[in-house]
Amino acid sequence: MSIIQKITRPSHQIDMQDIIREGHPTLRTVAEEVAFPLSDEDIILGEKMMQFLKNSQDPVLGEKMGLRAGVGLAAPQINISRRIIAVLVPNLPDEDGQAPKEAYSLQEIMYNPKIVSHSVQEAALAEGEGCLSVDRAVEGYVVRHSRITVEYVDKTGQKQRLKLKGYNAIVVQHEIDHINGIMFYDRINQTEPFAIKDGMLIIE
Ligand SMILES: [Zn+2]
Repeated sequence: MSIIQKITRPSHQIDMQDIIREGHPTLRTVAEEVAFPLSDEDIILGEKMMQFLKNSQDPVLGEKMGLRAGVGLAAPQINISRRIIAVLVPNLPDEDGQAPKEAYSLQEIMYNPKIVSHSVQEAALAEGEGCLSVDRAVEGYVVRHSRITVEYVDKTGQKQRLKLKGYNAIVVQHEIDHINGIMFYDRINQTEPFAIKDGMLIIE
């Protein structure tokens, strides 16, 4: 059975065993464009990836399944070299501990996502970045665009265009990097990991 057949079986739930780790050649490969209309296989794959993110963020289920919590997953990370990403960024509870009105600030399965424009300003997360395919902490600012416009096709086959900034923009850039064979630490200054370039925004 191929990997895609295994992953898209109705009973299968993606877990950490499905995720390949750094050193695997697929993570350094430019992934193939998805064809339209979307195949059932590609639609189910996207849904499985999104379900993984939901499961990983659920404290009880996540622990039961042994998942590391994630906000994004790209198909190459499950060794499927296709241009598909899923992103799921939860909103935090407000200051009184009340649940946010909208559970997520970004929830999307993107087919053939492409950054069509971006700010000159750069940005990095204060805490650095992590990756489900990297089982170690890598410190340093991951230098990215502060704002992006991304075009993609959604799961219904509709072309979409989205402007993103802040944390959401970072997450989408991290995942799009995966479909281009780029790892987050490629974007850390090797000699000065915490160097702040002129005008670079540090996102707390
Ligand atoms: Zn990653």
